Amino acid sequence: MFQSILAALAISGIFAAVSYRLRILNLSGSIATTALGTIILGLGGWVWIIPMLAFFLSASLLSIARKWRSGEIEEAKGSRRDAVQVLANGGLAGAVVLAQSFTKGDLYPVYLGVLAAVNADTWSTEIGVMLGRKPRNVISGRLVPAGTSGGATLMGLFGAVLGAILIAVVGEMVATASLPVIAMAGIFGSVFDSLLGATVQEKRRCPVCRKDTEMPRHCDQRTERIDGVPGVNNDVVNLLCGAMGGLITLFA
Ligand SMILES: [Zn+2]
Repeated sequence: MFQSILAALAISGIFAAVSYRLRILNLSGSIATTALGTIILGLGGWVWIIPMLAFFLSASLLSIARKWRSGEIEEAKGSRRDAVQVLANGGLAGAVVLAQSFTKGDLYPVYLGVLAAVNADTWSTEIGVMLGRKPRNVISGRLVPAGTSGGATLMGLFGAVLGAILIAVVGEMVATASLPVIAMAGIFGSVFDSLLGATVQEKRRCPVCRKDTEMPRHCDQRTERIDGVPGVNNDVVNLLCGAMGGLITLFA
């Protein structure tokens, strides 16, 4: 066990360093990725790390493709993933692996449900922004700027379905997992994310340029919360999205 953890640490460290060089992660994001990879590969093994790799690689490729298409919207979500973003998307999956290694139950479907939800949400945003028409708020139906949390497009929904199916297919290939259950968990998790984004998620405004944003800072100033529940930012919503995906597989 000690040897496999050391090997996992080495592999994860190299992986994080390459991601840092490719500007996918910043320094804190690389450290979080190394820790997360060590837990998942060291305690879970290849069967557990492969679906996580499918999420990480496909999300990174989509993000690079979107950047390549337009330099816009960068500031909305930040270009390099930091530790908080890595843990908001992958931390819950890591916790499920920890729980699995200390219990006797089979938590693999729950793990896949969490990953399917965060992957569906990421694909939904990236494909919606790249190919979708003007997004509408899922509650009010009003037009909102591309990339706004709680906004949805038909292409975004299509992206969510594909993103959820990817994790379900990979999960079924490397171990026994119910493809329809995992796919549904991912799709519903992503829809739940949009609902939270349109209701409780913080909406902020820059006091200098008056631009609506999700960033805590803009124009070198702290942005003001204009709506939503204090503290419920994009990272919190992502965490809840994954939790919903995992819960669905528990009850399915
Ligand atoms: Zn500003």
